[in-house]
Amino acid sequence: MDKVLGVLDGVEYTVGSTLLELSYLIAALLFVYGLKLLSHPETARKGNLWAAGGMGLAMLTTLLLHKDHAGAGISLANVWIILAAIGVGTAAGWIISRRVKMTAMPQLVSLYNATGGAASALVALLEYPHALAGDVGSILVTVLGLIIGSVAFSGSMIAYGKLDGKVGDIKKPFMTWLNLVLLAVVLGIGIWIVASPLPAGQAGNPPLQMIWVIYALFALSLLYGVTFVMPIGGADMPVVISLLNAFTGIAAAMAGFIYNNQAMILGGILVGSAGMILTILMCNAMNRSLLNVIIGAFGGGGGAAAEGEQGIIKEITLSDAAVLLSYSQKVVVIPGYGLAVAQAQHAAHELDTLLESKGVEVKYAIHPVAGRMPGHMNVLLAEADVPYEKLVEMDTINPDMPNVDVAIVVGANDVVNPAAHLDPGSPIYGMPIIEAGQAKNIIVMKRGMGKGYAGIENHLFFNDKTRMLFGNAKDSIQKLVAEIKSL
Ligand code: NAP
Repeated sequence: MDKVLGVLDGVEYTVGSTLLELSYLIAALLFVYGLKLLSHPETARKGNLWAAGGMGLAMLTTLLLHKDHAGAGISLANVWIILAAIGVGTAAGWIISRRVKMTAMPQLVSLYNATGGAASALVALLEYPHALAGDVGSILVTVLGLIIGSVAFSGSMIAYGKLDGKVGDIKKPFMTWLNLVLLAVVLGIGIWIVASPLPAGQAGNPPLQMIWVIYALFALSLLYGVTFVMPIGGADMPVVISLLNAFTGIAAAMAGFIYNNQAMILGGILVGSAGMILTILMCNAMNRSLLNVIIGAFGGGGGAAAEGEQGIIKEITLSDAAVLLSYSQKVVVIPGYGLAVAQAQHAAHELDTLLESKGVEVKYAIHPVAGRMPGHMNVLLAEADVPYEKLVEMDTINPDMPNVDVAIVVGANDVVNPAAHLDPGSPIYGMPIIEAGQAKNIIVMKRGMGKGYAGIENHLFFNDKTRMLFGNAKDSIQKLVAEIKSL
């Protein structure tokens, strides 16, 4: 027998239900602890395991201790179904984690995000017959869970397709209007549902027209998720995925409110706020507003200023570069998107160990939005076993740049573009950059005079101290390594 410990606000608290609540609290604390450990690459793996442990605990105690309103536990048949679902999910996750390459991480995050959104939307779809006959609060969380979960699901699926090169962009002006109209309709239906609660007698058995309205809201929210993400440029997807991730967290929190489940509410809020913070950080690091990312005005317009007077490009030979580097004391490698394209991370590591064996101090300067996804450079360099201590964040390395003998810019462009400081007409004006131009010498490795993501000229390449080493970054570094060895 489950002993009643007390009654609070008309709710009976038994030993089982108290233990269940306690386990949810412990699970939530484990999520927070896991999140804390995730903030450093060395502890991130442990952080993941602690948070997964929290989720495992919440699932186990729910299976064992959950009781419905009538006081009955989960039926054995349902326990089997839940265990089978957990088994399928675990197996799928295990297989995916072995097969997916590091470079396909953003797609994977999108896909996982889509499943989170779908799960929350399904909870709302299952529970609305009861919720609509409840108070305004329960109708509101159900409607919000349905809308946000559906948008997160379909939006993340489109984001996955774009990142995987399966879906293109539709950048037509009418899309903005279509999106505004769809959003207004979705919100209008949502408000109408919240304002029209069903009589208590219809709980669990809503009238047919209400069922139609709910499914129309579901379909329109799915459609809005598609049209919302379609016009956004493929390279802006990391920001959008982070935003959709925040949506999924909020939808999960709404599902938590539907079930009055503390672990789901807290877990959802953590995901929602972490996603939102990451979205804001990425926008700040690109000096763009979220609206600008969503409407997608980057790259094309705005930055025509000072495109004319360019100056002279100077090249450096491999042997000059080899001598310059070998006789330096401090070298900073500034990796960018081109390093990822050329897959030059292993060659870069070979170069840094070779130079260090000659007594040269080598560091990597990491810009927060170098590459095309958050932590892109960290992931690539970790894959090549570059020690984490060698990776220095932009704000830490910048004050030291004037003491650096050679800055090697490997496939980076926008993140070292001085127009961010000097040209108020530039689309990247105000974006923080790595101050490569402050170094005593600058070697730029890129294939030609191709522009970066923002599509603008870079005056660093015309700087007096800059010399270009043209070619694929991996080839150039490998040849440089051979040249240094032959000295
Ligand atoms: P970038 O400005 O896009 O420039 C990359 C450069 O790499 C190009 O100029 C290209 O020049 C060169 N390149 C390409 N393939 C190469 C190869 N195989 N070998 C050598 N060089 C190669 O890159 P970034 O400096 O890393 O800046 C990142 C940009 O992406 C920023 O504007 C940022 O706002 C944006 N962004 C980042 C994120 C994120 O989460 N990290 C998200 C969205 C947008 P050539 O063609 O001449 O070789």
